[in-house]
Amino acid sequence: MTLSKKLVLILGDQLDINSAALRDFDQKVDRVIMIESVQEAQYVWSHKAKIALFLAAMRHFAHTLEKLHYPLTYIKESPFSIVETLRQQILEDRVTHLVCITPGEWRLKQEIALLAQELDLRLEMREDEHFFCSHQEFELWAANRKEFRLEYFYRQMRKTHRILVDEEGNPIGGQWNFDQDNRKPYPKKGPGIIDPPASFEIDCITKEVIDYVEATYQDHPGSLLAFNWPVSRDQALEALAYFVDYRLRNFGVYQDAMWTDTPFGWHSILSSALNLKLLNPREVIASVLEAWKKYTLDLATVEGFIRQILGWREFVRGMYYLDMPKMAQDNYYEHSRALPNWYWTGETGMSCMRDAIGQTLRYGYAHHIQRLMVTGNFALLAEILPKEVCDWYLAIYVDAIEWVELPNTAGMALFANGGRFTSKPYIASGAYIKRMSNYCNTCKYKPDIRFGETACPITTLYWNFLIKHRAQFEASPRTRLMTANLNKISQEDQDQIVLHAQQLLHNLDQL
Ligand SMILES: Cc1cc2nc3c(=O)[nH]c(=O)nc-3n(C[C@H](O)[C@H](O)[C@H](O)COP(=O)(O)OP(=O)(O)OC[C@H]3O[C@@H](n4cnc5c(N)ncnc54)[C@H](O)[C@@H]3O)c2cc1C
Ligand code: SF4
Repeated sequence: MTLSKKLVLILGDQLDINSAALRDFDQKVDRVIMIESVQEAQYVWSHKAKIALFLAAMRHFAHTLEKLHYPLTYIKESPFSIVETLRQQILEDRVTHLVCITPGEWRLKQEIALLAQELDLRLEMREDEHFFCSHQEFELWAANRKEFRLEYFYRQMRKTHRILVDEEGNPIGGQWNFDQDNRKPYPKKGPGIIDPPASFEIDCITKEVIDYVEATYQDHPGSLLAFNWPVSRDQALEALAYFVDYRLRNFGVYQDAMWTDTPFGWHSILSSALNLKLLNPREVIASVLEAWKKYTLDLATVEGFIRQILGWREFVRGMYYLDMPKMAQDNYYEHSRALPNWYWTGETGMSCMRDAIGQTLRYGYAHHIQRLMVTGNFALLAEILPKEVCDWYLAIYVDAIEWVELPNTAGMALFANGGRFTSKPYIASGAYIKRMSNYCNTCKYKPDIRFGETACPITTLYWNFLIKHRAQFEASPRTRLMTANLNKISQEDQDQIVLHAQQLLHNLDQL
């Protein structure tokens, strides 16, 4: 039997030593290739911490491969794109058989398939087993559905994978969703003592990467001073253990709460480790279920957390592949304004935006409600072009990879696809931010004032948005209450709101 030489491509977000791509690897004849591409770091104007995290994690993974005696071609700092670098290597080594895991990013999947066609390669794109739901299973679930809603998908996932269900497939605790017990603001006096996130050693590999990024990407946004992301499998496991032991207990109740200088709250901070495949969602869920018993945690917290991983994470991935490439072009409201420059600096008079963006620049992290109801809400109300907003999210968060960033930003935060998988636009006035945070206490604007110099820009733009899209909001029972409240505002005040909103919209950079 003749053995064909395989080249196994491992992408920067596929760092799993148990990957299906390595399953039948023959160390005598096959080879692994990993590529660092400068173009990928510049494709959007990426946060320094995001570039450093990817490079440090890739180099640690390469080190693991070498220790396990995998023949590896590791290309550092290629000036070309991943696919162009791959092409050169394939031609040089006369490769005829390419193996990889299906890339998470749609663009890369198309480009690799095209390359294989062009070079007449045998291409095996293997299923990413890291996820619970394959693309094929999601397509089956989606077939003939008029509405795509997380809740139905999530229930099916719970039943299929027998997670938090009894023998008959009914939900443990008698209901599928315990949201009404979760999502509280912090007490008036503040969040109190929150166990800090796990911290990780900066070893020589990470240190070298940090120095390199600092020197090479000086003008990129963000800082590396607080870099503390898990960059290896061991560190990712440490992060998971630490979360379930110390921080999970208050995850549910405070998952929507915000407070000045409280960047991580009780959140898991596991998204980057999950997205790089340093952690498998199955082991995350297993650890959470174990901690539930060990520490007799609230079911509401455990269910709330599992819904994020088994529900939202899998759901947005399914929707991304179902709707690409259209998802990247959708612009339901035909918004066209430029993203204010202060999204890149945090220099704005709005306390909520300053805090959310400030911590994003420091850590490359903001939690879900900061992303959805602060920066995302503002971008929608301020009528920013979705592409500009999506590029910002893709650049600025360490966990941002298009399959998860785009559906969340374009689909959830911006309603750019007209509500294909959300039942309403997620918009809120300053009153919501006041209720869920302490941001308004130190703000130069007042959340309850609708127009005039001290009016909260988010409040003005919220009412302006409702006035502009009144018919759409009135037509749905989910949003009718919002227009009912609008109808309580006098016509004269509504006119003032529209006038003030126009001034704001024409001077977004000055806010
Ligand atoms: C506009 C916008 C953009 C976002 N961009 C990204 C992104 O680029 N990458 C990313 O991983 N998440 C993204 N999210 C989802 C979510 O905000 C982050 O997963 C979460 O804040 C990461 O922090 P954490 O690990 O502490 O999460 P936790 O709050 O502790 O949640 C646990 C885990 O659940 C998963 N999860 C939770 N919510 C979602 C969701 N809506 N979609 C997918 N997975 C979810 C994540 O893996 C997360 O680690 C985005 C959300 C919004 C509203
Ligand atoms: S007043 Fe408005 S802009 Fe200021 S922190 Fe509150 S919600 Fe944000």
